Amino acid sequence: MKKVAFFALVGFLSACGISKNKDITTIQELTLEEKVGQTCQITLDVVAQTDAQGRTLVPLKLDTNKLTEALVKYKVGSILNVSWHTLSREQWKEITETIHSYYTSGRIKIPVLYGIDAIHGVNYTKGATLFPQEIGLAATWNPLLAEEFGRITAYETRASGIPWNFSPVLDLGRNPLWSRTFETLGEDPYLVSTMGAAIVKGYQGTNPNMIDSLHVLSCMKHFVGYSASQSGRDRTPAWIPAKFMKELYLPSFKAAVQAGAQTVMINSGTVNGIPGHVNKSLIQHTLKDEWKFPGFAVSDWEDFNMLHTVHRVAPDLKSAYELAFNAGVDMSMVPLAPDYKTYCSLMLQSVNEGKITVERLNDAVNRIHRTKEAVGLMNEKQPSLDGYTAFGSPQHKAASKQAALESITLLKNDGILPLASTGKFLIAGPTADNLVFLNGAWTHTWQGMDTSFNTKGCKTIVQAFQEKYGAQCLFSKGVELYKEKEQEQSRFVFLEDYIKKLEEVETVVLCIGEMPGTEKPGDIRSLNLDSKQLELARLAYSKNKKVILVLVEGRPRIIRDIVDKSSAIVQCYLPGDYGAEALVELIAGEKNFSGKLPYTYPKYDGVIEFYDRPRSVDRSNVGDFAAFNPEWPLGYGLHYGVVRYEHLKSNSVQNESSPWEITVDVTNESNREIDEVVQLYVGDEFASIVPAGEQLKRFQKVKIPASSTVEVRFILSKSDLMFVNEAGDWVFEPGTFTYRIGSQSGRVNFK
Ligand code: BGC
Repeated sequence: MKKVAFFALVGFLSACGISKNKDITTIQELTLEEKVGQTCQITLDVVAQTDAQGRTLVPLKLDTNKLTEALVKYKVGSILNVSWHTLSREQWKEITETIHSYYTSGRIKIPVLYGIDAIHGVNYTKGATLFPQEIGLAATWNPLLAEEFGRITAYETRASGIPWNFSPVLDLGRNPLWSRTFETLGEDPYLVSTMGAAIVKGYQGTNPNMIDSLHVLSCMKHFVGYSASQSGRDRTPAWIPAKFMKELYLPSFKAAVQAGAQTVMINSGTVNGIPGHVNKSLIQHTLKDEWKFPGFAVSDWEDFNMLHTVHRVAPDLKSAYELAFNAGVDMSMVPLAPDYKTYCSLMLQSVNEGKITVERLNDAVNRIHRTKEAVGLMNEKQPSLDGYTAFGSPQHKAASKQAALESITLLKNDGILPLASTGKFLIAGPTADNLVFLNGAWTHTWQGMDTSFNTKGCKTIVQAFQEKYGAQCLFSKGVELYKEKEQEQSRFVFLEDYIKKLEEVETVVLCIGEMPGTEKPGDIRSLNLDSKQLELARLAYSKNKKVILVLVEGRPRIIRDIVDKSSAIVQCYLPGDYGAEALVELIAGEKNFSGKLPYTYPKYDGVIEFYDRPRSVDRSNVGDFAAFNPEWPLGYGLHYGVVRYEHLKSNSVQNESSPWEITVDVTNESNREIDEVVQLYVGDEFASIVPAGEQLKRFQKVKIPASSTVEVRFILSKSDLMFVNEAGDWVFEPGTFTYRIGSQSGRVNFK
């Protein structure tokens, strides 16, 4: 390492309050081979015992020879994931303690950083608290709850011996076809930034430079533009104009960096023909130089190799590694093909040839080492896993249920809800009888389909209803879900049973939705809900039954044809292990709804639009063929109550340097308490480049007692009114701005 870089690092660490650790000096003593090893991340299978066919043994057992080779000889810097398992805490303890014991082995002490996708709770540990997926968390519009989710997940991840979480996903959910929509915080950059930053704080605690043993390193994913794939299929090309990259896709990452996020994972796809992993302008210049991101960037799965094998921007693996590393990616995740040793030797060759400078290698190793230091890995003895008595505790479960209660969104109610406790009714539909549908992918296994790991004691929708309503609640599945890549015909239908039970009831709670799935296995070809599920609703309508549609889905599926005749519609998203209990309490009226849509719910498969459209979209061209016509807009959601907004006021700020203050009175006209998400939207009347009609600028979730009024106040500043102009710069242009809260709106002039 160059002296300058080393002293800069020490200076930085002491400025952050991190004590100067003697082990820091060990980086200087690393050989080039060992430094390269630090930039290498292998999957657990690489160091696990295998059977004669090379398959990882179940239960998983570490292989000491493989460990010694990887950790002592190659000084591999990081291990990730778990095979096709969910392990007990005891198993995790054994694995992570064994791996950490190699800290003192070999010439130099360097601990291994273990990372995992604990994206809605520590989903690969038995008995963990599983929360709603991010799309549901976003629907709570409650940053405090998002932070609490982060805190509990961090605690339980740490209780499993793991200090690094590949979460949160900060990609913007702007293509509902994308299989990972459920992993996002929705379509709006302000909502995603606010909720994402809250999760980062929850994961990392109050001091991101000194993360204690109750917290974990967060990892911002996937920098940047991954979600915008044009076809909607996973890891296919995105095209993002520079203006929208700055205004829409980058803000959530910037907010997370400002909140202290310590690591970042790079976008596996391409944007404007440039693979995420070679985008030096974004990784090195924007993230590291401009935003001063102090941590390190890890590649996504095998993505150094993909530059050669898939994206074809490198004629061989060696040049692929050089491109990615020189673009600023500091660690390569699972350089499996051919294997991690080839990665290490090719990288070393590149350094020896000067194709990768020693300075750049030192920079990466410094960043990785600094992050290990920040999370307290330098202690020979790691926190004992025998503590953590709150793992899976009733308090943690209650927080998960609260998140589900606050996320589940009431989209329609003709008065049928709360559901009366008298009279028989039918629970039907394919998503009603298994926890896997409530949790989605990244639950116990990657695709979340293995039911054998379902959390004991947690209820499916049918079980939760039967527990509350007893024998009056019948059940018929109607149809099975099917993987959309497979033949629709191959699934089971049980229409006879459904029709028979329909005859016995007046009301049907019809639970429809999606099969769990993520990444490429979760790809679909159409947003339309499949015909067999629609048929269940139509059959019920044809017999004049009242239908409460319960949507259990990771992305909004088109349900236009069954909306009008329904009596109520409830969007559950993927609400987690306690989602069914929460749903039943809301439907029974014991709890009040407060969730709001974190996206614009499309009505037509061919017209996907977003709330922050330019005004031209609202012009109807032929008759009433209104262009913007979603099923429901962003921020929509009902509750058992009536709210009135009035007295919207703005201060008389006419000057761009003084704060803009907006207040509104919100009255709960009903006789029960409500939680209302007050949303402020601002529009720029005229600008040098077409302005959005309106954009979400602030929101606040407020509790309003029955028959009471609260005043809500928002403060904005000039920076909230800036946009990216034709030259690609953030600018403020004086003029008239509109503002709206609920049905109230006003205008103000900025000189
Ligand atoms: C996903 C990442 C994930 C990584 C490790 C990749 O395939 O894109 O989101 O963190 O695998 O499991």
